[in-house]
Amino acid sequence: MTTSVRTCLDCPATISAVSKGRCRRCANAIVNRSPERRAKASASMKRRLADPMVRAEQTRLSVAGVKRAAQDPAWIEKKRADGRKYGAPNIDKTRSAESRAKAGASISAVKLAHVPPSLRDEYRALRAKGLSAAERAAAVVDRSNRLAKEAIERRAREQASAAERQKAQAY
Ligand SMILES: [Zn+2]
Repeated sequence: MTTSVRTCLDCPATISAVSKGRCRRCANAIVNRSPERRAKASASMKRRLADPMVRAEQTRLSVAGVKRAAQDPAWIEKKRADGRKYGAPNIDKTRSAESRAKAGASISAVKLAHVPPSLRDEYRALRAKGLSAAERAAAVVDRSNRLAKEAIERRAREQASAAERQKAQAY
């Protein structure tokens, strides 16, 4: 009797005689490539983590995992090496004027969503006058509404006087 060793179709892993052709890892990789499958898994994970008890348990498990790993000197050394390799370059990246400007713009987009972008400099300038954020927002929005109203009225006057002139010239 010969027992031939079967291997996975995608990798050198050996598989059992009853396997359909792939090791568990490769079979899972194929299943997990499907966007619907991933969306479903993501949705069920979010549902699970919405429960504070489940979330607390997950946190406890990962803290315990890190503590356990920290017993291993090789793991600590790897973490230190990662820190030296990525830590300083990452900090440098966040210090460039360009990245500070980018961060500032996205923070403003969120925090000043209620203040139109064209009014944000004015809004910031009002800080020096000791006004609260709500007062500053109200002030700039009020002023902008007033300016818009004045512009509309000015245009209406200009159109009216242009019509007058045309009428006068027609006779
Ligand atoms: Zn495989």
